[in-house]
Amino acid sequence: DKEYVGFATLPNQVHRKSVKKGFDFTLMVAGESGLGKSTLVNSLFLTDLYRDRKLLSAEERIMQTVEITKHAVDIEEKGVRLRLTIVDTPGFGDAVNNTECWRPVAEYIDQQFEQYFRDESGLNRKNIQDNRVHCCLYFISPFGHGLRPLDVEFMKALHQRVNIVPILAKADTLTPLEVERKKRKIREEIELFGIKVYQFPDCDSDEDEDFKLQDQALKESIPFAVIGSNTVVEARGRRVRGRLYPWGIVEVENPGHCDFVKLRTMLVRTHMQDLKDVTRETHYENYRAQCIQSMTR
Ligand code: GDP
Ligand code: MG
Repeated sequence: DKEYVGFATLPNQVHRKSVKKGFDFTLMVAGESGLGKSTLVNSLFLTDLYRDRKLLSAEERIMQTVEITKHAVDIEEKGVRLRLTIVDTPGFGDAVNNTECWRPVAEYIDQQFEQYFRDESGLNRKNIQDNRVHCCLYFISPFGHGLRPLDVEFMKALHQRVNIVPILAKADTLTPLEVERKKRKIREEIELFGIKVYQFPDCDSDEDEDFKLQDQALKESIPFAVIGSNTVVEARGRRVRGRLYPWGIVEVENPGHCDFVKLRTMLVRTHMQDLKDVTRETHYENYRAQCIQSMTR
């Protein structure tokens, strides 16, 4: 039995025409180094995105701190093709001086808008390669008391540019009660500091009760508490992705252990198209309006 990520349901979210062409989606991960960003994206898409990463020399590793890297993979499920691009922003927070560490990331996002804007005004408008960033998973440390000043600064620098989905990293290091407390604290601080994270669209009034409950649960999950792992362990007679501890096993895909499945369902099965729509209609439009304004000034 093969594992599925679940994007075969994408055609339900959009027009059939785009099914043949396949889907493009660009996901960015940001936040402090060592919080499990690379591990999580591997777990999310059941693929080893970093398999051809060469061993880096010490010098290169230091260089890597501010370098933004892009990995593209083509995945296909049940005849539906997804071209997934992961934009990794490694090492943030490592530098001695962290002021404006968000700047290269913000510039990267703007550059993709700029490229799209140029292509859109060009002759070959039909075949534009869309590299705009549709979503940014922002990782928050489980070891702090809510958000740190750097988190606030970083998210505020990005929230007009990209859909931010906050993530509470390494949830296996917290007890269930601590997870709930930290989530509430982080939600309050997001509100307090005026950070605009991605808003799940309100569901239609004619949706059934089950759907509404699911939608409510999703909104209350923010920030998604996740556990990542690239190793398969044996739990209750099954082979699962998890982390093995002397006292037991935490399972990545067990909804009782963390929000991993909820996050993946949201990203892939239910909200991918909305994330793309908001990118185009809000974030890109903002950028475009600024461009046009500065051209006519
Ligand atoms: P990145 O720097 O944010 O990309 O972090 P990595 O994905 O490279 O992970 C850093 C370390 O944390 C590795 O040793 C991972 O095995 C470990 N790690 C990743 N995810 C988790 C998690 O959910 N829980 C725990 N306890 N460790 C994790
Ligand atoms: Mg990494």
